[in-house]
Amino acid sequence: MKISVCSNRPILSSCGLKDLDYQVDTYVGCEHYCYYCYALAQAETDWSKEILVHKDIVKQLSGEIDKVSPQPIYMGYHTDPYQPCEVQYRQTRKVLELLKEKGFSASILTKSDLVVRDIDILKEMKSAVVSVSVAFNDNRIRKLFEANTIATEKRIEALRQLKKAGVKTGALICPVIPYITDTFHLIDMVEPYTEVIWIYGLSINDRSGQNWLNVRKILSSHFPDLVEQIEPTLFSKDHMYWRQLGDGLRALKQNRQLDLEIHL
Ligand code: SF4
Repeated sequence: MKISVCSNRPILSSCGLKDLDYQVDTYVGCEHYCYYCYALAQAETDWSKEILVHKDIVKQLSGEIDKVSPQPIYMGYHTDPYQPCEVQYRQTRKVLELLKEKGFSASILTKSDLVVRDIDILKEMKSAVVSVSVAFNDNRIRKLFEANTIATEKRIEALRQLKKAGVKTGALICPVIPYITDTFHLIDMVEPYTEVIWIYGLSINDRSGQNWLNVRKILSSHFPDLVEQIEPTLFSKDHMYWRQLGDGLRALKQNRQLDLEIHL
């Protein structure tokens, strides 16, 4: 993997998520290389070959956050803050140290267990939240769709350790790929270690987009009997598959009194 320094650009940017006004991408590009990633279309490098880092992330971000009041900052919007190069470059840890020093908090989304390295900082923040995303309980299938992520069980173990340390946790079951993702099994796996579970269907709007071309290629090679079922389901949010899944999830939410956020 080639690591290069990116051109000078703002690090703190606005974030449209609920209760989160700002976000920070600690890298440009993502080694996890999920073939369904919506950010692939916005990549300025080939994510499988080159990741960009900021020249001096602490110095620059320090100047930028001094202009806003202390609040939770989201990390994990366009890139995974705990992708493999974080072991060496520690951009995310440096940002967390800065946020803590300035009285900010962090809301993190990752597919990696490297986040447990930073429990010491996270548990000292006022309201840090770490969410882990999972989509495949079968790791053979995961490898097809996420070229360079770690096993689902390791991510759930990270959730367990975070919860044990007193850090608030969440889980994203995302993306639900129709007829492939076993959503209910994944809920059972994460439920003991999370306070809230968000569920998102695979969101692809454009049949000419790189993420759909990637996903279709995987489906054609490995699930040839399912392609004709999956494609119309993905491009129709009114499809019976989504309605039935939504009904089942709402029933589960009520029966088990789960904090399930359903976005199919
Ligand atoms: S971990 Fe997230 S940002 Fe990285 S490639 Fe996968 S979906 Fe995209």
